[in-house]
Amino acid sequence: MFTIDDLADRLGGYLPPDEIQQVKRAFYYAEQAHDGQRRRSGEPYVTHPLAVANILANMHMDHQSLMAAMLHDVIEDTGVDKPALETQFGKPVAELVDGVSKLTQITFEDKAVAQAENFQKMVLAMSRDIRVIIVKLADRLHNMRTLGALRPDKKRRIARETLEIYARIAGRLGINTIRVELEDLSFQAIYPMRAERIKRAVASARGNRRSAMREIQSTLQQSLDDEALNGTVMGRQKHLLSIYRKMRDQRKPFAEIMDVFGFRIVTEDVASCYRILGVVHNLYKPVPGRFKDYIAIPKANGYQSLHTTLFGPRGMPIEVQIRTREMEAMANNGIAAHWLYKAGQTAHPIAEGSRARARAWVKGLLEMQRHAGDSLEFIEHVKNDLFPDDIYVFTPKGDIMELPQGATVIDFAYSVHTDIGNNCIACRIDRQLAPLSTRLESGQTLEIITAPAARPNVAWLNFVTTAKARSAIRHALKHQQQAEAIQLGRRLLNKALAVFDTSLEELDASVVKRAVKELDVSGQDALLESIGLGTRVAHAVARRMVDLADGATTPTPSDTRQPVVISGSESMVTSFARCCHPLPGDAVVGHLSAGKGLVVHRAECNNVADKTDSEKFFALKWAEDIDIDFPVALRIEIESRRGLVAELAGLVTDADANIERIGIEERDARLATVNLTLAVKGRVHLARIIKRLRNLPNVGRITRLGQ
Ligand code: MN
Repeated sequence: MFTIDDLADRLGGYLPPDEIQQVKRAFYYAEQAHDGQRRRSGEPYVTHPLAVANILANMHMDHQSLMAAMLHDVIEDTGVDKPALETQFGKPVAELVDGVSKLTQITFEDKAVAQAENFQKMVLAMSRDIRVIIVKLADRLHNMRTLGALRPDKKRRIARETLEIYARIAGRLGINTIRVELEDLSFQAIYPMRAERIKRAVASARGNRRSAMREIQSTLQQSLDDEALNGTVMGRQKHLLSIYRKMRDQRKPFAEIMDVFGFRIVTEDVASCYRILGVVHNLYKPVPGRFKDYIAIPKANGYQSLHTTLFGPRGMPIEVQIRTREMEAMANNGIAAHWLYKAGQTAHPIAEGSRARARAWVKGLLEMQRHAGDSLEFIEHVKNDLFPDDIYVFTPKGDIMELPQGATVIDFAYSVHTDIGNNCIACRIDRQLAPLSTRLESGQTLEIITAPAARPNVAWLNFVTTAKARSAIRHALKHQQQAEAIQLGRRLLNKALAVFDTSLEELDASVVKRAVKELDVSGQDALLESIGLGTRVAHAVARRMVDLADGATTPTPSDTRQPVVISGSESMVTSFARCCHPLPGDAVVGHLSAGKGLVVHRAECNNVADKTDSEKFFALKWAEDIDIDFPVALRIEIESRRGLVAELAGLVTDADANIERIGIEERDARLATVNLTLAVKGRVHLARIIKRLRNLPNVGRITRLGQ
């Protein structure tokens, strides 16, 4: 059985004794904490953390990662808490253990595949220290290696999660040794029959091809030696899942996939890579279009290599990868290669945060590809890919929502639905009530409590970070103000209308419509809002509406038959023609003229007599109870005599009228023509005055002017 002393021996190869001592101390602590617990296989539980630490030791991870591996299940499975670990092993180790525990708590279950990528990002976002991920991957790898004792359905669930999440994260980080093993173990757990068939087929194919492989390998090696190039040629095996995927996705038979011979040549430096490529292309003819230079343009996870395909002996296709030792380490261990290359140096940059670590890794990439010349864009891509700036949280149903860093509960509520944001009153984060301004962290589960009558608060604008929440809150607040203004406007208008013994509800809809049009607002609500906000006076609007209801304005051409009633008081929009001086009681017509509004003429007025069928004219009707004076012009032929003006004035005043103007023309010594403009109440009043005038001595013709 593998023991802590075996591990310590192995660590002696790359860690100083004091660090090895700390790893051992972590082991003994874990052994005690897990005392009495056993794995499903029956072994003491501590064999698991020890095996996880061993996986990390093979990757030459630092002592803190190894200590975290030893302690990774202590918080979750025993009574020990994070502060206790911090006291014992220091803050960095406690943080690592805490990070791994948090990842263990979230389970992928059977979420839609579409969520898998978000889930991967969430895992990365939760692990700002990349070592948390590496420890977690090693943990998962050991669990996958020891799946045997579990029920088949549970096996499949864990295998699917491993494939969708952890194998892909390993791939993203370029840790291919772990990715390949996770993939094959998952494949075997999900499809045991298929995996077994492919495994057997691979074994037999390998036997058949052994001599051909040896032949090609030694030919390649010989040609390198001939050119005095330093390089090691190795045969390369495809792993089970990649064979299966090729068969499935490219619909190729097994034989055709296995037909390809894979080799890898590892050398000292980049220059040698290109020289070896030349030698190899000289030896066998290259297949056109198959050469790929991942040294000049590395893959997103930092992978670098030259790839080419050759026509081998008897036309057998040969795939060759050429790379440096560093690139090889990178291809196998990805970001973990960083620690591999730090090994032996006393000053570990371990206290740095994960971002600094990523920077160091990226800097390493940069050094590796400095011959290639390219490119800052690539570096940015790698950084963004590794450390999402967003946070990922769960809805109560288990859906993952992506939010920007610093997002709050309110941002979350609005990202789920605008109504949820608007009606949000409280929130539970991981089942605990929390303030709405709480900044969220990846991995939390959020439950929003709403109330139908709840409304957004202005104060929310102080802490929300997403544009969606901000604009939704602003919109809701504006809407709220609008609703209140409309309500107030309605009250004010109704109060004003009550003076006229009516209300907005009693008024005809067409009246309101016309008022809206005349006042040039977009609708009734806009009109009420402007009253509520005080930009329009309620009384004036009420007055106008009542006028409209009484018909004192331009009717539409379709209702010209219905006479419009005029009261004489519409001074703003109505005037009386000076040519004919219409009086109440006269038959009148209206003429609509631009700028002057409605002009009232007597029906027999010469100016309008023959034009009344035009669209600009329409019938008018006098209101019943008009009590204002109208001007009227008379011409009187009368005997010329002394005191005539005084005599006329007295008569008019006696008849309750006023003289507005008087002019006398002497026609001859005896006869005079008097032009008299009077203010009278109407046609009846005028008739009474004329009757009195006729009673004057020596009066001739009396004519009303303006026919
Ligand atoms: Mn574990």
